[in-house]
Amino acid sequence: MNALAPYKRLTIKIGSALLVDGKTGKLRADWLRSLAADIAALKANGTSVVIVSSGAIALGRRLLHLDAVSLPLEQSQAAASAGQIALSQAWAETLGEHGIVTGQILITPNITEERRYFLNARTTIATLLSLGAVPIINENDSVATAEIRYGDNDRLSARVASMIEADCLVLLSDIDGLYTAPPGKDPDAVHLAHVPEITPEIEAMAGGAASHLSRGGMTTKIEAGKIATKAGTAMIIAKGTENHPLKALTEGGRHTLFAPFQSRAAARKRWIMGTLTVAGALHVDAGAARALLTGKSLLPIGVTKVTGVFGRGDAVAILDPEGHEVARGLASLQSDEAQLVRGKKSQSVIELLGVGNRSEMVHRDNMVLLTGMEAAAK
Ligand code: GLU
Repeated sequence: MNALAPYKRLTIKIGSALLVDGKTGKLRADWLRSLAADIAALKANGTSVVIVSSGAIALGRRLLHLDAVSLPLEQSQAAASAGQIALSQAWAETLGEHGIVTGQILITPNITEERRYFLNARTTIATLLSLGAVPIINENDSVATAEIRYGDNDRLSARVASMIEADCLVLLSDIDGLYTAPPGKDPDAVHLAHVPEITPEIEAMAGGAASHLSRGGMTTKIEAGKIATKAGTAMIIAKGTENHPLKALTEGGRHTLFAPFQSRAAARKRWIMGTLTVAGALHVDAGAARALLTGKSLLPIGVTKVTGVFGRGDAVAILDPEGHEVARGLASLQSDEAQLVRGKKSQSVIELLGVGNRSEMVHRDNMVLLTGMEAAAK
């Protein structure tokens, strides 16, 4: 069975132990070439691919002759700095052989947590994908401080996958999935092919094992699984050490699939309703209030009044002529722009704000209607 067939947008996390030879500290160039061929094949099939690649510290160690088993923070940050150049070069060259352009994005937790950065990073990644490029993402290890780093690319990749609404996160590592106990310690450990839900029992199975190069063991993979599946993204853990690891997955290779906990649309709605504080309100006329109920975006012409100060991407309440909140959503325009264009037709909005700007106030994909069940649950 082709494990990747259901998915159109993949985030693939590559562990250091796959990219870098543990003994020599050198890049596993043949392996990377085989992976690039797999990525090219997926892209040729219309699948978008985002890579979260580890390996900067492991490569930088060799370049800077840092041999200690455990490096002090400043040395591992220096190693990340030197190694990241080698890492992006390797990706650019190897995917370049297939005519694929790569874009590098280095992120820190504030980028996936703070809305303004989040929206920007998401837009950049989406734009790269729409241009046919493959974004290569890593943590910005050389500047992150201990308090503000993920420290492992398992959780980082889960944040990225949920940020870009990937339908599946693939963790390629040195183990072919989750076992009922760490298989190195327990010979009776049994492989699990499918995990419908991450329960405390599943968490207990993860144990704490980590390989010598990567920071994450099964525990951070399960943490990643919780982040991804809650956001509506499936997660696959598969062994990636052999050549053509993605092709292996399309040909029935062994793996563990973690089913998404809820749909991405539901996850997004929960995020809008549950996580964000409302920064302002858009008062709409009766016609616009009715249009929202039929699944339309909110256009400036239907907005009668704008209150509060908000930026693009902030949550706003949408109020009907009686002042009742009928919907909540993410503003496409900041409050001063909204003031300027309220009550105006779309054509004049383009004239006022310039071509290339949003012409709706709130896009329907970013809106939750507060009718019936949703209003009751609020
Ligand atoms: N960001 C680290 C690096 O590129 C890897 C973290 C991990 O192994 O999860 O070296």
